[in-house]
Amino acid sequence: MSQEPTVVLGAGCAGLAAAWRLQSRGRRVVLIEAEDHAGGLAGGIRIRGNVYEYGPHIFHTTDPQILSDIKGLMGADLLPYRRTIQIKFLGNYFQFPLSMTEVVFKLPPATVLRAAASFVYCFVAGALRKPEVETSETLLRRCYGEVLYRIFFKNYITRVWGIPPSEFSPAFARERIPRFDLLEIWDKIKTLARQRLGGLAQGIRTSGYVEKVEGDLYTTRQGFSMITQRMAERFTEKKGELLLNTAVKKILREGGRVTGVVVESDGRERTLACEAVISTLPINEAALSLSPELGPEAVSAASALRFRAIVFVGIKVRRARVLRASFMYFREHSFNRITDLGYFGFKIEPAGSTLLVAEVSCDPKDRLWTDEEMVKRAVVADLVREDILAQEEIEEMHVFRAKHAQPMYTMGYEKALSTLLGVFSEFSNFETAGRQGRFQYVNTHVAMKMGYEAADRLLAKTFDRIERQDAPHA
Ligand SMILES: Cc1cc2nc3c(=O)[nH]c(=O)nc-3n(C[C@H](O)[C@H](O)[C@H](O)COP(=O)(O)OP(=O)(O)OC[C@H]3O[C@@H](n4cnc5c(N)ncnc54)[C@H](O)[C@@H]3O)c2cc1C
Repeated sequence: MSQEPTVVLGAGCAGLAAAWRLQSRGRRVVLIEAEDHAGGLAGGIRIRGNVYEYGPHIFHTTDPQILSDIKGLMGADLLPYRRTIQIKFLGNYFQFPLSMTEVVFKLPPATVLRAAASFVYCFVAGALRKPEVETSETLLRRCYGEVLYRIFFKNYITRVWGIPPSEFSPAFARERIPRFDLLEIWDKIKTLARQRLGGLAQGIRTSGYVEKVEGDLYTTRQGFSMITQRMAERFTEKKGELLLNTAVKKILREGGRVTGVVVESDGRERTLACEAVISTLPINEAALSLSPELGPEAVSAASALRFRAIVFVGIKVRRARVLRASFMYFREHSFNRITDLGYFGFKIEPAGSTLLVAEVSCDPKDRLWTDEEMVKRAVVADLVREDILAQEEIEEMHVFRAKHAQPMYTMGYEKALSTLLGVFSEFSNFETAGRQGRFQYVNTHVAMKMGYEAADRLLAKTFDRIERQDAPHA
């Protein structure tokens, strides 16, 4: 067997799954993680006996292999979960995803009439004439009509994402915005017709790689982090090497072959030689960390891809449940989503308490990202104003952050992404996988699947060479 290990960068769902797969095929694997724990976005922050999640996360999948692997790993610790979501618009609470019936009955009758007229107008006009440049704004207008677009999407998207829908590629609206039932049916008819006529959807392949909640929902008594924790334990039990608190600084290459990874831990840099690499780091950061540097086209593509950050404010409250649903969305507050872990069957200390997690979308340049006291004050003021809790009920507050929470499908991102994926596909011993690694809104089970697939591609690419090197010389 080759002396050098295969190095996997990032110990989130994708990296853990890739490491598992490589291990199961007999490869020596080193898994590198910048944080002090594995799990990435699906890991949790442990504070005074409680686990605060980035989100929090629910496990679900329709993929039989991922389901069976996670059920095998977790056994009876995997608990069924029922999700409830409410969204507040114009002083009313709506179920989520929005249903046509609720919109009709809860909005003022005059608005409903205007919305219906503009819906029909935009729908028909859109079918007759396509816009010169399709953006998320033109797509949403066509799907919902001007009135509903303005009420439900325009300002909300601008606030949560920092830019208006007109600056987003149509892929953003297609993948991120849940549809009315009627529009789902219309979409299915169109897809069926396109298949019959032999037409193909344009753009980057996203089939199977779209963030959708399908299949039964699961959690554990310590949230999703118990799953990623156990994946990491299984990896190290099988002699995998997990380097925590270790940040990737450079990926060394000779032409189209990766030769090593420069990492930093405890303020010291060192180089790990490697047989091959799977990266789950943000694709643009991986591209920019290659040394020698890639050509100007790849560097400019890497600089064009953006991520939206989220600051999470975890709040412990001495009440079993605080919110009216497990997830609640707001348009006018500092946080766009807040979750009550009391609905998840989590073990929360002390008994009778719950944990709330508020999500504040921002940019790392914003003050909300850097100023902990400011973000805490903003969240508490909104909770009090919304009559969700009183300041005196708060027992603890903690702030934690995800810099690369959401890939941003801005106009033209497809070209930048396909340039980088094209560059990486030319490498003989390198693969990129995961939500950040392939710049796609995917859920944990798809990130895991991407990890498996990247390992399979890498093994197929490197197998012949490694086996030939390993064979005894005649
Ligand atoms: C708010 C929110 C809620 C979500 N809710 C759900 C849900 O309920 N269910 C669901 O299935 N999915 C959910 N998702 C999606 C899910 O989080 C992701 O699909 C999944 O966690 C992605 O895994 P990954 O391994 O691709 O990336 P990540 O989890 O981001 O892992 C990448 C890892 O790389 C490490 N890393 C980055 N840079 C470096 C470096 N330079 N050196 C070393 N290590 C580095 C990071 O620390 C991280 O651990 C949610 C996402 C968000 C943002």
